Amino acid sequence: MLKKINKKSIELKLLILVIQEFFDALGNKHTYNIRKNWYSLFGILWGVPIPIVTIGIDLYANSLAFNISNIINVIFTHPIHFFFILHPVIFGIVFGAMGSVRHNKDREIDEFKKSLIGKNEELEKINKKLQELDELKSNFLRMVSHELRTPLTTILGYISFLKTQKSGTLTKSQLESLNLSEEEAVRLDKLIQELLDLTKIGTGTFKVNLQNTDIKQVVNRAIKSLQPLAEKKRIKLNNKLPDKLPPVLADKDKIFQVIANLINNGIKFNTPGGEVSISSEDSVDKKVNLCISDTGIGIERDKLDKIFDKFYQVDSAGKRKYGGCGLGLAISRNIVKLHMSSIWVKSDIGMGSKFFFELQKFNK
Ligand code: ADP
Repeated sequence: MLKKINKKSIELKLLILVIQEFFDALGNKHTYNIRKNWYSLFGILWGVPIPIVTIGIDLYANSLAFNISNIINVIFTHPIHFFFILHPVIFGIVFGAMGSVRHNKDREIDEFKKSLIGKNEELEKINKKLQELDELKSNFLRMVSHELRTPLTTILGYISFLKTQKSGTLTKSQLESLNLSEEEAVRLDKLIQELLDLTKIGTGTFKVNLQNTDIKQVVNRAIKSLQPLAEKKRIKLNNKLPDKLPPVLADKDKIFQVIANLINNGIKFNTPGGEVSISSEDSVDKKVNLCISDTGIGIERDKLDKIFDKFYQVDSAGKRKYGGCGLGLAISRNIVKLHMSSIWVKSDIGMGSKFFFELQKFNK
């Protein structure tokens, strides 16, 4: 009902606007300019046959010959002919006014087009500048990441060499210090890797190499690499994948990154004695579904769609106690997207979290 009233009132306003424009045009010089306004000439020509025909009919009806004196006679006998004689002028004015309205509209459209072109040029300039800045940022990030990563690899290499104790026996506290240094260096390495990935995603150079993949092997590798961290935090890792899982179409390393990140989060946002499980639920026809669940702190429902955004972390910067930089899930979502699939989560505060994603089965 409300819609109908609105539509009607809009139509009425439009009608009033058109009438107003018409009357405005009557006061416009352009309306009466036959040389510049072809509409008015057209109106006059359109109106000329009317008096000719009406007078002609009158002459014919009275069996009078077509000559000037008879025409004058007929006109004065039936003064209605004055009205018909005025028709070329009336038509000229009405059509001329329409020509003026059209002329005004064309001018307005031209002005609008010009302003649009101007705005477009401005936008193009801004866009170019933004692209340059983006490229600058990407180059900077790439350079910084590379310059940080090279020495870090060397540091990690020396730490693991020292830990072998081939260059001398280490005391218990020296070994503890080395382990701590290694942990921090690995954390830094992960952060740099995430920044590099983010840069690649931003520049569209983050690619996947999809091939026949045994997903169980990838999960086993992820569990093995995170077992020491889980043990340290007293979290149990459960591999609940069925014995047989069909091969999937995936990039082994990138999917490893997703699974490792989800398990790592399951450990990180958990309490001692908790569990992280990897299972495959409801595998549908052409897809294999993977679920990484934990018994941890859970995520508030209204935050669930935000955790996949870049740099988003549920615990705000001021009161952070878990570390990380909020990039893992954003990168995971991108990786899964490149596998033509999606990632989603079910969770609630204090109820643990379940992350799901699907992979296409490999077809020979
Ligand atoms: P990071 O772990 O480095 O902070 P992520 O992108 O992996 O970044 O995760 C984003 C945020 O989502 C985390 O900071 C955390 O608040 C929330 N989150 C992710 N996984 C879990 C989980 N398993 N349990 C509870 N919260 C989680």
